[in-house]
Amino acid sequence: MSTTTATSTTAAAATAAPAPTTSLNVLIIGSGIAGPVLAMTLLRLGHTVTIYERGVSGGDSYRGAWITFQANGMDALRAIDASGTIEEIGYVLDTISFVNGAGKSLGAMPMAAPREDGTKSRIMRRSDLFVALAREAASRGARVEYEKELVDATTLPDGRVKAVFKDGTSAIGDLLVGADGIHSRVRTLIDPDAQKPRYVPVLNTGGYIPNFPLHTAPETMTMQFGTRCFFGWCATPDGGAVWFANPPLADEPARGILSSKSDADWRAWLHELHDGDAGPAGALIDAAVGPLSGWATYDLPAVRKWHNGAMVIIGDAAHATSPSSGQGASMAIEDAVILGKCLRDCPSTRSALDTFVSLRKERVEKIVAYGARSANSKAAGPVARVFRDLLLPWVFWYAARDGGKGMQWLQGYHIDWDDKVVPVESG
Ligand SMILES: Cc1cc2nc3c(=O)[nH]c(=O)nc-3n(C[C@H](O)[C@H](O)[C@H](O)COP(=O)(O)OP(=O)(O)OC[C@H]3O[C@@H](n4cnc5c(N)ncnc54)[C@H](O)[C@@H]3O)c2cc1C
Repeated sequence: MSTTTATSTTAAAATAAPAPTTSLNVLIIGSGIAGPVLAMTLLRLGHTVTIYERGVSGGDSYRGAWITFQANGMDALRAIDASGTIEEIGYVLDTISFVNGAGKSLGAMPMAAPREDGTKSRIMRRSDLFVALAREAASRGARVEYEKELVDATTLPDGRVKAVFKDGTSAIGDLLVGADGIHSRVRTLIDPDAQKPRYVPVLNTGGYIPNFPLHTAPETMTMQFGTRCFFGWCATPDGGAVWFANPPLADEPARGILSSKSDADWRAWLHELHDGDAGPAGALIDAAVGPLSGWATYDLPAVRKWHNGAMVIIGDAAHATSPSSGQGASMAIEDAVILGKCLRDCPSTRSALDTFVSLRKERVEKIVAYGARSANSKAAGPVARVFRDLLLPWVFWYAARDGGKGMQWLQGYHIDWDDKVVPVESG
């Protein structure tokens, strides 16, 4: 098998499993992607879990944007037999084709590394993924308490953790896992001087348009290095179109600026950015289902402390990447499954958390760096654009020639549930 395995980063599979950890009472903060997947993983291992989510029940259906969900994310879900309905969401994407502002082809490359199991990347509504994971977790018995915003947590003298919520209630658990996203509260409880999210100088907007015929190759996303703005589109098998734009913005927008922009403001700005570019951007902006809105982009290059006592962070809370990597959701899922394996195979919670970090840190930091490079190339100025347009055809030619194998480390990652994790020595 040419895939990378989750345990191979530190050591080969152990020959004998350490005694299984006793049943833990785990408090999971956040019901995004990492939270429900961790809940499923831990329920499978016989632990007791409760997810505390600050949002309201059903709030998942409002999480906008389409995302690419890559094969390593699906692989990680398969490890816990949870890929089920998720395998059917959205559409397969096989190829990325690049053009410049004038519509000239810069080349094409596979969307992802080929896998022996044949799994391909998919494009899907971000909200569909959230809803499907939450449903799957609920069907397996995960308990979620909504409108529970964690504000504080302290370690008790017996080593357990007490979580305090905004409504004045509290809960005590053996382990508290912060799956609470990029602006994680748990990260700052673990380390008050924790790194803050870094602004990445492009915005995100986009969506789906029904009945918008695009005459493009099937399973192909076209990405345009436009004169002023990066833009992407693909046809969906139901006759619709998915599109996105990454308007460059050098300085972080002040809080409230983006949400105060009206639909008309967004359309006018996007038209201005794509004025003179060849291709369907203008027509897609006109036809886009409103109201349009947009998000600033952040990442977290290297969080120095992932755990403290019986508190740990996973997913975006520990290592958010720019959407340009197409990996945030998959990394969150990988984390959840691997943390479960570490709790299963390590002799103590402390050892499990140390082992978890040792298995994950290098990989996720590499992905965050890859995402940042990719996002920055979208925000290139006029001079950098000239070099980029000269260089990119060679890059894409090379990537196409090697059939995407150069990306094996990224989407080829494989988690074998039955492989035992080798505990690292806890300091
Ligand atoms: C516009 C956009 C495009 C993206 N595109 C892609 C893509 O193409 N491919 C990809 O793989 N990923 C993409 N991502 C990233 C992906 O969505 C994230 O990486 C993923 O959601 C991370 O999952 P998570 O569970 O760690 O955090 P989240 O999904 O952010 O979930 C965190 C949860 O914690 C809750 N929470 C936060 N604080 C508290 C608190 N104090 N108490 C209780 N609950 C709390 C939040 O309400 C939320 O439900 C994109 C993200 C955005 C915004």
